[in-house]
Amino acid sequence: MPDHEFDLFVIGAGSGGVRAARVSAAHGAKVALAEEFRVGGTCVIRGCVPKKLLVYGAHFAEDLKDAKRFGWQVPDCAFDWKTLRDNVLGEVDRLEGLYQSTLDTHDVATLRQRATLVGPNEVELSDGTRHTARIILLATGATPAVPSFPGAEHGITSNEVFHLEEVPKRIVIAGGGYIANEFAGIFNELGSRVTIINRTGDILRHYDESVRDRLLQISVKKGIDFRFHAPFEKVVKGPNGSLTVHTAGQDPIETDCLLFATGRRPNSGGLGLETLGVKIDPNGAIRVDEDSRTTVPSIFAVGDVTDRVQLTPVAIREGHAFADTQFGGNPRRIDYASIPSAVFSHPPIAAVGLTEAQAKEQFGSVKVYTSDFRPMKNVLANRDERALYKMVCDALTDRVLGLHMIGPDAPEILQAAAVAVKAGLTKAQFDDTVALHPTMSEELVLLK
Ligand code: NDP
Repeated sequence: MPDHEFDLFVIGAGSGGVRAARVSAAHGAKVALAEEFRVGGTCVIRGCVPKKLLVYGAHFAEDLKDAKRFGWQVPDCAFDWKTLRDNVLGEVDRLEGLYQSTLDTHDVATLRQRATLVGPNEVELSDGTRHTARIILLATGATPAVPSFPGAEHGITSNEVFHLEEVPKRIVIAGGGYIANEFAGIFNELGSRVTIINRTGDILRHYDESVRDRLLQISVKKGIDFRFHAPFEKVVKGPNGSLTVHTAGQDPIETDCLLFATGRRPNSGGLGLETLGVKIDPNGAIRVDEDSRTTVPSIFAVGDVTDRVQLTPVAIREGHAFADTQFGGNPRRIDYASIPSAVFSHPPIAAVGLTEAQAKEQFGSVKVYTSDFRPMKNVLANRDERALYKMVCDALTDRVLGLHMIGPDAPEILQAAAVAVKAGLTKAQFDDTVALHPTMSEELVLLK
């Protein structure tokens, strides 16, 4: 076997790359990791973490209103965006430091440069130095995809949104998926006039129709505008800096900010992969097998760059399984069935397993149980906002195939219930569990 400088060279210090590097090093591998931007990746630096903190910050707008119904004298409260923004960015800095120190304590050599592949076992850094490794792991993530039309360059993406100088008075959000609905909720709570523009007639089309409809209905009631079937034509920037967004067949919209939330594209370009024979799908995803191995035996890939499931915990699992398999003497693969997911909209959605439509298609006969209720807290707060829980079961075996929820704290509740769904429990077993009263989650064992 040829002598390599490292056992493992990881490109990309996001969730998947850091986990793979740390665990491989703990298994005794000599590991290097190259990162051209910041340690932590999208989730920590400009994704899940700062987004969730903004969701918390924005939700105070509702909490402060509701507090009055609970007897609190709430004087007129002013909101200061820069305080929230800077505190969130400060937390991001702290977390980045923790990620770096984890790498350091595991003796992973962190190289703050862009790396490209020059051979199946060799990378070149931007300063021209080259390193060899027995295995190379690509964990380069994904980047916001922006549709191409005249004036699109005036918009921003989730990369920039955390750094805004002020809360825009008016914001147009392009797309109807995760990021669009999460930021629509955030900016609406913070006082912006929000319009979502989507090319089709659906939001969040991978979620169950009932919870999507409920989010749409609540969002409209909160004042968010939706424009469907509205492909972009052009964006024109006015002399005062405002933008006029033109979409096919609809009136133009004037706005202060245009945020693209139109999906994310795997970061597989410019790495030198094609010349080495690493197969890349037309959408940019690096093709891998069940062990995350690419079409070149010494090169592996995990996380968003493979576009299997673009979720942080999945990338982390893929990175960990890769490390255990290659360096820990413990070969294992990821089970992609029943992965729970959530949208941190206002209110949030959470789901695991099959939607009603998917279950009907796969199982033919299904039974659906729902609870459509106004959470106790909303009742006292005079907040006319109903939660919806829906359980989809196999009509033959009673097994729970899917669980879909929208309402306060739905993601917190669903994580525990997802264990039962993953374990293949039946509706009767849910019902056997005594309710924990008074909670919202008790609805899960009282579904009719
Ligand atoms: P999504 O895939 O969730 O949604 C993309 C939206 O953009 C869809 O409504 C889609 O329309 C629309 N769209 C796609 N391409 C175009 C185009 N060329 N022109 C106009 N509209 C277009 O992507 P996001 O950007 O919201 O998020 C990216 C990924 O990041 C998610 O898929 C998710 O994996 C991850 N993420 C997860 C979060 C979480 O777990 N809470 C939060 C944020 C992101 P249509 O569907 O109608 O075709």
